[in-house]
Amino acid sequence: MGEETRNFPYADVIVDISHESVDRPFTYRIPEDLKGKLETGMSVSVPFGRGDSVRQGYVIALRDSISFDERKAKEILRRAKEDTAVDAVLVRLAGWIREQYGSTMIAALKTVLPAKQKKRNLEKKEIRRLLSAEETEDLAKRSAQKNRSAMARLLSALAERERLPMELVREKLHISSSTINSLEKQGALRIQSVRIYRNPVESSMEAAKKKDAFGKDSPILSAAQQKIVDSVLDDYDAGIRKTYLLHGITGSGKTEVYMKLIEECIDRGRQAILLIPEIALTYQTVVRFLKRFGNRVSVLHSGLSAGEKYDQCERAKNGDIDVIIGPRSALFTPFERLGLIIIDEEHESSYKSETMPKYHARETAVYLASLHHASVLLGSATPSLESYYRAKQGQYGFFYLGERLTGNVLPQVHRVDLRQELRQGNRSIFSRKLQELMEERLKKGEQVMLFLNRRGYAGFVSCRNCGHVMECPHCSVSLSEHKNGKLVCHYCGYEEPAVKSCPACGSKYILGFKAGTEAVEEKLRQMYPKARVLRMDGDTTKKKDSYEKILSAFADREADILLGTQMIVKGHDFPGVTLVGVLAADMSLFAGDYRAAERTFQLLTQAAGRAGRGDLPGEVVIQTYQPDHYSIVHAAAQNYEKFYEEEVLYREIGGYPPSSHMMAVLVTGEDEEHVKALAQELAKLAGEEEGAVTVLGPCPASYSKLNDNYRFIFYMKSVDEKKLAEARERMENHIQTLQKRAEQVQFDIDPMNGY
Ligand code: ADP
Ligand code: ZN
Ligand code: ZN
Repeated sequence: MGEETRNFPYADVIVDISHESVDRPFTYRIPEDLKGKLETGMSVSVPFGRGDSVRQGYVIALRDSISFDERKAKEILRRAKEDTAVDAVLVRLAGWIREQYGSTMIAALKTVLPAKQKKRNLEKKEIRRLLSAEETEDLAKRSAQKNRSAMARLLSALAERERLPMELVREKLHISSSTINSLEKQGALRIQSVRIYRNPVESSMEAAKKKDAFGKDSPILSAAQQKIVDSVLDDYDAGIRKTYLLHGITGSGKTEVYMKLIEECIDRGRQAILLIPEIALTYQTVVRFLKRFGNRVSVLHSGLSAGEKYDQCERAKNGDIDVIIGPRSALFTPFERLGLIIIDEEHESSYKSETMPKYHARETAVYLASLHHASVLLGSATPSLESYYRAKQGQYGFFYLGERLTGNVLPQVHRVDLRQELRQGNRSIFSRKLQELMEERLKKGEQVMLFLNRRGYAGFVSCRNCGHVMECPHCSVSLSEHKNGKLVCHYCGYEEPAVKSCPACGSKYILGFKAGTEAVEEKLRQMYPKARVLRMDGDTTKKKDSYEKILSAFADREADILLGTQMIVKGHDFPGVTLVGVLAADMSLFAGDYRAAERTFQLLTQAAGRAGRGDLPGEVVIQTYQPDHYSIVHAAAQNYEKFYEEEVLYREIGGYPPSSHMMAVLVTGEDEEHVKALAQELAKLAGEEEGAVTVLGPCPASYSKLNDNYRFIFYMKSVDEKKLAEARERMENHIQTLQKRAEQVQFDIDPMNGY
């Protein structure tokens, strides 16, 4: 039951709306005429402080009772008219996030509200003339006649421009403070302070100007690009707001479409947010937007200082910028006139928050857009199953761009069967085909990228002889090998003893799959002592900037081979790369969760897209024990549609998203028995309503203990998302009744990351 339908007597209101003040909401009595009419996020006028001055606040919760003397409670005065103000929108958004993803209102508010700046605002001094231009000019002439040349210089400058920065006056015009003071006394000018904002893209802007990058015009859009733009704008101008999916292969001109739409959005007096994965927010991307939008664009990302972040929010609020670029959290930029949200690489799992509330930026963007009457455009070369599914159902508009505009052709892809290699006596991690092609590249001085798509928790067991993978008989995901040797399903907890021989072919080569980038690097150095190898993984990118440094070193051809995890397949163009090797495609294929095949398809498609970006054609080698697996076959052929058809079928049969919904419930705490007991209690509550949701587990999570905290997990599935929300509500209510609970409970709808 939604809380707004009941006649609550009290409401929690926050008055000073900021990240820090949400911990101290004030409880007010709701007057008779407003009972049943207030909702989370509405703005109200309330008496505040000793003098009861009237302030505007936001309702963040409705409540039945009050924790202090009821006679001391003040009463809400009225609903405020200003309901569309951006703060009200953000509070409503927080309310929706709380409902949708399950968290406290305070955690949701902290997610959406900008943190208040602890540092001082930056200010600078400027001089403002108080007389008209003519009067000032007159005065300048008279000063000159009296040989007061400094005074004359300043006055002439002021005649031309009403306001001059103090810096300029002192350092460029060489005017002393006594001259300025004397003119101030005469009433000719005033010294004033103005707030200035930190601008994180200023240095990029300077660099871009120096490189003369500003001069270039934007390209004329191709017919296919223009059609997309026109179609979105026709809807927009007819008052129709929708979510659109743009499926476009890498290099097909999606970014140009984004920029054109943003431009048109600005022309219509509205603002735009462009979300990109943090990892893709490189100097090159920013400069491309700076060229187009100058200082009307800014960025918001985790590398900024608190002051820089705060100032970007202020600039957005004041209307000083029209476009913001950033990862997931940039969605909460406080634009008053938001007209368009674009999410590039919408399939990326980084759009899902990993901390409570575990919101997905895509769903949240669609809701936020509805509050602002704005449009949403999702773009990807490998759309998420969810988005493609919705596009097919007509819920999203759909566009396709299928040609590379840079003219170069798609690479040739070789699938190598590692079972075959083993049978023929090659036990190396490099197949003969890959070795042959690598040697050829090294001889010619072309570059190679080697990719090991390792997932932290991939511990699947497979047969090196026939490729058979040990799977859960109930969940159709691979079993993971535990330290005690048992094979365990991370969804339902099913387990079986380790196997000595392959159940399919009887071979003894059935093993856990492990390979690390370090070991591969070692091998490369032995095989090709002269080759220069760069390694990029979690270990080599711990330091700030190391990610950019490695990539630019490789781009500058300081190395022949770049070896790395999935990080290397994103962003960045390397024209020198003509060979991409995927060492073990199976690593992501059997990661033990329902998205494994989708993730593999995405990674392989992206990896293949890295080869042959320059003038030279590229080749790709995909090594696998499962060359016939549909995600590998279709990635090799770069055929998204075929992949989708098979994958969506698997999801339907397994009861996984997008055709069904799934919710993970993670219980953590220091006492293993308590954690387990609470997980079991909650799982029982979750499955209470007959036939509504299917419960898998609980069982220990794949990381069964982290930072001395035990972790138990269970999953719920249902075709009806509402049933999951109801089950969650039952659990939340139960949790509230528990006294002195030390365990934490997290909810995650349609999880994208493993536990
Ligand atoms: P995507 O975002 O799909 O990877 P981009 O928009 O980055 O594609 O375009 C790929 C390349 O093609 C870029 O170098 C871009 O400048 C160029 N490009 C895009 N659209 C056009 C166009 N209409 N005419 C000429 N070049 C274009
Ligand atoms: Zn076998
Ligand atoms: Zn299972």
